[in-house]
Amino acid sequence: MFEISVRSGFSGAHRLKGYKGKCESLHGHNWDVEVFVTSRKLDSGGLTIDFKDLRKKLGAVLETLDHRDLNGIVFFRKENPSAENIAKYIYKSLKQSLNGSVSKVSIKKVSVWETKDSCASYFE
Ligand SMILES: [Zn+2]
Repeated sequence: MFEISVRSGFSGAHRLKGYKGKCESLHGHNWDVEVFVTSRKLDSGGLTIDFKDLRKKLGAVLETLDHRDLNGIVFFRKENPSAENIAKYIYKSLKQSLNGSVSKVSIKKVSVWETKDSCASYFE
């Protein structure tokens, strides 16, 4: 198997409903995001998927989060926009986007860093 990953990030605001502490109030983060995709075979050029193409797809997903109040996004109406659920949102969105691409790659994992030392991941 081959695996590649790209990193990016976005800025946004969230509040964690039911959290007993400061994070219950609206506040912002610069989240860092890393996505991992795998493939059994490489394309004719020897690539899993072009980094540029994966970065573009990730960018389109992150654009839906950047500079937004995440609690206002439909996906987060029922589930708190925690780092865990943000990773899940990005995973689901990117999976859908990759399904429509010609490359035979599978998304493996999405990791979201809320601070440089705290990371949550989602995979299936
Ligand atoms: Zn927070």
